[in-house]
Amino acid sequence: MLLRLAKKVLSLQPFPRNNHRVIFLYHHIKATQSNFYLPQCTTSENNFIEQINFIRKYFNILSLEELLAKTEDGKRYASIVFDDGFDSFKNVAFPVLKNYKIPATVFVNQAAIEKQQLWVSNILLNADNKNYLEQLWHKFMSEQINFDKFAKNPLNLMLTQANFNADPSFLYDSNLKFPLKIYLDEQEIIDLDKKGIQFENHSSDHLVLSLCNLDTQRKQIIENKLYLENLLAKTSQHFAIPFGKTEHFNQDTTQILQNNLYNYSNIPQIFDYQQNSIKNLIPRISLTEESIPELIFYLNRATIQSFFENKL
Ligand SMILES: [Zn+2]
Repeated sequence: MLLRLAKKVLSLQPFPRNNHRVIFLYHHIKATQSNFYLPQCTTSENNFIEQINFIRKYFNILSLEELLAKTEDGKRYASIVFDDGFDSFKNVAFPVLKNYKIPATVFVNQAAIEKQQLWVSNILLNADNKNYLEQLWHKFMSEQINFDKFAKNPLNLMLTQANFNADPSFLYDSNLKFPLKIYLDEQEIIDLDKKGIQFENHSSDHLVLSLCNLDTQRKQIIENKLYLENLLAKTSQHFAIPFGKTEHFNQDTTQILQNNLYNYSNIPQIFDYQQNSIKNLIPRISLTEESIPELIFYLNRATIQSFFENKL
């Protein structure tokens, strides 16, 4: 009861707070007339516009570079970023951002750009394709997990138990059917880059890096870096960890990123920008269909947490 009341109060209005810096993360933005909905990573167009308007009202929205360069000056800043390079960025998100002159960064995977598929969306969109699931099971699962068990929850088992050191080409299947074009292609990325959108590194195949050995991790990070740098003729400086939670990367990951001068970001439980104990690690908050009161609650929760950590 008390908790519910506290949540209600914390959802009314953002507390005034100095030096508040937040990175808001989106994935797929669904056009109002579209039926294409990916569970856990879709924001509907109307909600997106409402959230962006809220963020505009309470924050100065900066590019990732500008946000990271800001020293504490008593103002509130935010950056808007997108993971996975969904095609909807071009037609739904970009016009909104352009209208408000809001800078944005999109973290992309070479495989999604070139093959127009990633294993995560393949599983979500082809859950009843036994051939594809068998291919994944055969190449990426240990013998202890039988196929029936795998087929019941393939995404969860891939996320927690796959041997991602296997040949990544088996993650793809040119026979798979998709309802529409899912990812941005090279030409669209080049065009959007010219219009001021920043594209950055999200690894080649969106594997769970903590389930990869050092060599595979290095390949996943560096090959995607070189691919992007070649495509856009500029240096890649930011890396978003695929899936982004603590369990999805390890010391090998942070070592490779630091050796390659990357700023990198994850998705913690509490999503406030703060000087992290791990150098160059910048937290982000992932948004989908949150209402404005829910967004306010997240912000206030972060403020309270910072207060207890003496970081106000
Ligand atoms: Zn991602």
